[in-house]
Amino acid sequence: MLKARRCVREMREYHSPLSSPTTDLRLDMNESTTGCSPRVLAKLNSMSAKTLALYPRREPGEKLVADFLGVTAEQVLLTNGADEGIDLLCRAYLDPGSEIIVATPAFAMYEVFAQTEDAKVVRVPCGPEFSFPTQNVLEAISPQTRIIVICNPNNPTGLPVSRSNIMQIIQAAPDAAMLLDEAYFEFYGQTLMEQIGKLPNLFIARTFSKAYGLAGLRLGVMAGDKEQISVLRRMVSPFNVNAFAMECLVEALADREFVSSYVAQVRAGREWLQKQLEQLRFKCWPSQANFVLCRFGETKKAILESLRVRGIALRDRPDCEGCVRITVGKQHEMERLIAELKQVLTNVPSNQQAAR
Ligand code: PMP
Repeated sequence: MLKARRCVREMREYHSPLSSPTTDLRLDMNESTTGCSPRVLAKLNSMSAKTLALYPRREPGEKLVADFLGVTAEQVLLTNGADEGIDLLCRAYLDPGSEIIVATPAFAMYEVFAQTEDAKVVRVPCGPEFSFPTQNVLEAISPQTRIIVICNPNNPTGLPVSRSNIMQIIQAAPDAAMLLDEAYFEFYGQTLMEQIGKLPNLFIARTFSKAYGLAGLRLGVMAGDKEQISVLRRMVSPFNVNAFAMECLVEALADREFVSSYVAQVRAGREWLQKQLEQLRFKCWPSQANFVLCRFGETKKAILESLRVRGIALRDRPDCEGCVRITVGKQHEMERLIAELKQVLTNVPSNQQAAR
C-alpha cells in the first residue's frame, strides 16, 4: 500500500476552525470586517481576459513591495499568503530531527509546517500573563536549533515582544533562522525591517490578509538577507502568487488612507471592547493587534455556544486557559457583541460566573 513519509502519516489534518455558516458576524479569524480598499475592488472589476490568460509575473510586484518596505527587490519574496513563506522557511532550513523553537501559545501553522519536515518542535511556554519567555528561549537554543519563531505582536495574545529581547535572541543563535512574524505589524507600528540586510539570519513575514483586508486574495511577503531569500526563490513556484493578487498589489499599497483609517478604527475599537469586557468583569490582555484575548473562565463553553446561536463567532483558545480570542470589528459590530453578551450572561448560572 502506498505510504506517505512517516512524519506526515503521524500528523492529523489541520482544518482552520472557520466559523459555521450560521454565524453572520465572524470575529474568530482576525479578518477585516471592513473589507478592502475600493481601489482594489475597482482593479479586480477591470481585469481583462488577457491578464487572466497569462502566467503572472512576480518581479514587478517585488520591486514595488521592496520600495515600500525600504529594502531591495533581492531581499523580498512575494508569497501565497504569509503561510507559504513560513512553509518555505521550514522546507529550506529544517532537516529531520532538527529543532524549531516556538514560544507558546502560538499561531498553529508553525508546528504544521515544521512537523512536515520531521523536525522537533521545541515549545517554550510563555511566562506569567503570557509574557514572552526570553530567558527560556535563550536556554532552549541548542546545536540542533535551525529556526526560532517570534510572532510580534503575538497571536493569540496580542502582546508585543520588546526589540531588545528580539535582538538578544537573534544574536544568540547566528546559525539559526530567526522568523519574525509581523502579520499584525500595522496595528502595532514597530518593526525590525531596517535590520534586513544587516542581520543575515533575520526573516520578517508580513501579510496583506489583515490591515489590507485581503485574506481571500492570498498575498504575503517574506523579507530577508538576499543570500537567504535566494535560497527560498530556488524552491518556490514561479507562479505562486496569482494574477488577481499581482494586479491588486499596486492599488493596495497606494491607498494609504484606507489602511490608516482601518488601523485607527481597530485601535479605537479594541480599547472600547476591552473596557466593556472589563466592566463585565472579564480579564483581557492589552492587545497591539486586531483582536483581543479575553478570559471567560468556566463560562466559556456556554457563552461561545449561546453567541454562536445568535450569529456571532468568537475563537476558542483551549491553549490559553478559559480564554477566547475576539477579532475587533466595526463599532456597531462591537456594540452588538457586547449587547448579545450581556443577554447571554443573564442565562449563565451564577456559580459559573463567580469562577471567572
Ligand atoms: N502569521 C500569523 C501570526 C497569523 O495570525 C496568520 C493568519 N492568521 C498568518 C501568519 C498567515 O497569514 P496569511 O493569511 O497571509 O497566510
